[in-house]
Amino acid sequence: MQLKYKLVAFDGDETLWTLPSGLNLSDRFDNDPIGRPDFTFKKISAPGEAPVVRRDDGALFALRPETFSVVETLRSWGVLIGVISYNHLPNIESILEAFGLRPLVDYVVAEWHTGKDNMMRRMLDMARADGHDIEPKDAVLIDDDYYRLYRDQYRRLGAGFVHFGVDIADFTPILEMVRPSE
Ligand SMILES: [Mg+2]
Repeated sequence: MQLKYKLVAFDGDETLWTLPSGLNLSDRFDNDPIGRPDFTFKKISAPGEAPVVRRDDGALFALRPETFSVVETLRSWGVLIGVISYNHLPNIESILEAFGLRPLVDYVVAEWHTGKDNMMRRMLDMARADGHDIEPKDAVLIDDDYYRLYRDQYRRLGAGFVHFGVDIADFTPILEMVRPSE
């Protein structure tokens, strides 16, 4: 099976999940300059519904409903799944756990800055340490890229980039990008 990418990495805020309360994952308030690393999250949606979690201060986060089916299909093809996020790592780990998504994610790199090219380099190092033969061209980031920083970063890096909300409106087209039906 010919696959265009061996690793698909997703951003968090406004990509994997939407923000019904208008707050980013690690922000105590809008535009929080430092954030908080140790929020806790609890799933409040019913089983079978699209997952919604509530942060300990009441802020809500809603997983995109097609996430599980797309990620499970990618994994069934042998594609590695990553999460790359400008956030505090403990919050990312906690919300992925609360959504039930953590077991389907191979690698998480979350750091409090906009250098997502370096975050991808770290992730590729992690994959190579696990024995995967993988280079930047084998990886793609899906990101809403609010400040429009990442397309140029990823062009220089030599990795793929998909501007979520601009290039695609939901995750389903990722499947065709990874495995073109030709
Ligand atoms: Mg985002």
